[in-house]
Amino acid sequence: MDVEDKVTETIKKYRLIKKSDKVVVALSGGKDSTSVIYILKKLGYDVHGLMIDLYLGEWSEIHKKNMTKFCLEQDIPLTVVDLKKEIGQGICFVKAVLAKKKGMTGCTVCGIIKKWVLNRWARELGADVIVTGHNLDDEAQNVLMNYLKGNVALGAGMGPATGNGKGEGFVQRVKPLFFVPEGEVRKYAKMMKFDILYDRCPCAFGTYRVDTREWMVGALKDSEKLKVVVGFMDVAEKLKVDGRKVRKCVKCGEVSRGEVCKFCEIVSDI
Ligand code: AMP
Ligand code: ZN
Repeated sequence: MDVEDKVTETIKKYRLIKKSDKVVVALSGGKDSTSVIYILKKLGYDVHGLMIDLYLGEWSEIHKKNMTKFCLEQDIPLTVVDLKKEIGQGICFVKAVLAKKKGMTGCTVCGIIKKWVLNRWARELGADVIVTGHNLDDEAQNVLMNYLKGNVALGAGMGPATGNGKGEGFVQRVKPLFFVPEGEVRKYAKMMKFDILYDRCPCAFGTYRVDTREWMVGALKDSEKLKVVVGFMDVAEKLKVDGRKVRKCVKCGEVSRGEVCKFCEIVSDI
């Protein structure tokens, strides 16, 4: 089955998106999110690109330029959010401060900040769903990393539709490439001749995820990655805490699990 068919099947099987939905696609400028927005547009969905300018030097500048050109050519509206306007700093500064003050390393900080900004802006844009470009390799890495950390419960509710609970102000996140191996997305993007960068994020080095990814490339075939993910989905469903609702963070008013959201928890430290 090719990439487009897999996306169609995943959307149908997991009821990810309705034809009437306003679909906001989180665009990093990489092969995954570019492919997914292209496919969704081709399938007739009402798509809108949402990109966060993280201020990662030239890397961010090139991605921004590429996505602006791509969306113009594809007749897709694009919103670029300036992180410095949102939180007063670029991502490198935030990461450096939190590494020093809290020992937070790897991609955790970036993940928390991206989620917060994306939810806020997607809601602002009237989105019914947020689409991300996460692929099968990303998901298999998550399962293995959680296991190796000794905390499989972190994967509770894992699936093509993410999130453990719904609540006011929470925009459902969905992953149409959930079952598509990274290699297949890369091949697809190259075949379509998307004018994009294929490099990895310059910040992601020496992290747990990078080590896991590198190990996985040599150790697992795509069919085995699929087994890791599908096998865990049954467990993930059982680990789900029923009726767990999100609420409003007392500090920023964004969606949160606790009284204060993770974003405010870390940003109050910078
Ligand atoms: P990553 O965290 O880089 O593996 O990216 C995973 C997914 O998050 C991508 O496929 C995008 O959908 C989304 N994403 C990553 N970076 C950005 C960004 N700067 N702006 C908007 N969405 C992003
Ligand atoms: Zn908050």
